[in-house]
Amino acid sequence: MPRLRIELTSWPRRSLVLTDTPRPDCPDCEGFGGTQHHYGDPETGEYAGTDWEPCHCWNENRRWLLLPLPRPSRWLRRHRPGRDPWGPDRNSDEPPF
Ligand SMILES: [Zn+2]
Repeated sequence: MPRLRIELTSWPRRSLVLTDTPRPDCPDCEGFGGTQHHYGDPETGEYAGTDWEPCHCWNENRRWLLLPLPRPSRWLRRHRPGRDPWGPDRNSDEPPF
């Protein structure tokens, strides 16, 4: 029985999606959903980053689109900065008479 969760996502577009979730009592990840592997630089041996390995008890790529939401960008489009026809460099290619 999959454990599903409703999530608000903004990528690839704003929408409500149903996602799979890790098993809370999973013996491997203890509900965390995966394991982190810290790895070091092969030359210096210093910490170089962390790999994330999703656990087998869930599928982080399994998601269902529930409800696409409208983009809140109408305001932004209207106020997008463009060339101002009354700006200071108007007729800048003509001598000022
Ligand atoms: Zn697990």
